[in-house]
Amino acid sequence: MHIEPFVYERPTNLREFEQALARHGDDAKILAGGTDLMVLVKEKVLSPRVLVDVNAVTELDWIRWDPEEGLSIGAGTRVAAIETSPLVQEHAPALAFAAAQLGSSQVRHMATMAGNVCHASPSAETPPVLLAHDARLTLGREGAERTLPISEFFLAYRKTALQTGEYLKAFRLPPLPPRAAVAYRFRGLRRAMEIDMVNVACYLELADDGSAKAVRIAMGAVGPIPYRAVAAEQALVGRPVDDAFFADAGRLAADEANPIDDIRASAAYRKRMVDVLTRRALRAAWDQIQGKEG
Ligand SMILES: Cc1cc2nc3c(=O)[nH]c(=O)nc-3n(C[C@H](O)[C@H](O)[C@H](O)COP(=O)(O)OP(=O)(O)OC[C@H]3O[C@@H](n4cnc5c(N)ncnc54)[C@H](O)[C@@H]3O)c2cc1C
Repeated sequence: MHIEPFVYERPTNLREFEQALARHGDDAKILAGGTDLMVLVKEKVLSPRVLVDVNAVTELDWIRWDPEEGLSIGAGTRVAAIETSPLVQEHAPALAFAAAQLGSSQVRHMATMAGNVCHASPSAETPPVLLAHDARLTLGREGAERTLPISEFFLAYRKTALQTGEYLKAFRLPPLPPRAAVAYRFRGLRRAMEIDMVNVACYLELADDGSAKAVRIAMGAVGPIPYRAVAAEQALVGRPVDDAFFADAGRLAADEANPIDDIRASAAYRKRMVDVLTRRALRAAWDQIQGKEG
């Protein structure tokens, strides 16, 4: 196997990392766990001139909880750490669950959530959960940063809002209101370590009278990017949460799915699965809220 030569840099702190990105501009590619990137390099889909290895930048590896701000996660945190973190399990259990589904234990100990999100694969595990949480992303660059809702991060197939010299620095999941929960469901061949055929994450918030105060339905592998079924969400707000609600939620979300046929599943099967998984995820979120109150 022949790989095109590249320059390798391994900054040991955030300042050096930002300087390396600024210095190399469009030539630079960030190397985190490498579990997506190195596959593309080996397959010659990508031939980066400079690999900037972020693994020694420990300032990007942390998980924190603040009652006002919510759950914040540094971009260099490994997927295995997210899976097992008591803070994530308590405040964003759907994210811990999704992290636990990614690849194998070996992959999860190398992979980062930043890599999962920045690779911008439509079938990636964590983006639907982050969309359901309405997560905020901190994007850094030399001496500056900006915040972006995750709904504005994915622009097209494998294309994100990151600009030249910019990197993903942190994720923030706002605290959930008391009568709200997020649940994640997927369809895939886990034993074959295959990426998902379809995945869905749902946020449900109940009003005092038990009707749906807010709904978010995020879907993966049914279009070029992970995205929310916004028309379905709007149609569900204000309705009583009963069997008809769950049935309509599945049907309406499936109406907004635009999958393709490929080796993993047919478009028709994926649409059908959006219906099933949306119903299941919303019911699971509803159950969680009842559990918190019971
Ligand atoms: C065997 C196997 C099984 C897998 N199974 C699954 C699965 O079930 N579900 C799933 O979703 N994925 C799966 N993957 C894909 C992959 O493991 C994940 O997407 C992983 O989270 C990528 O993270 P990484 O740290 O390895 O990213 P890398 O490969 O290092 O990087 C991926 C991309 O993100 C960019 N990047 C990384 N960090 C940053 C940053 N801080 N700021 C900006 N850009 C950044 C890189 O430049 C690159 O473009 C699998 C991969 C393998 C090899």
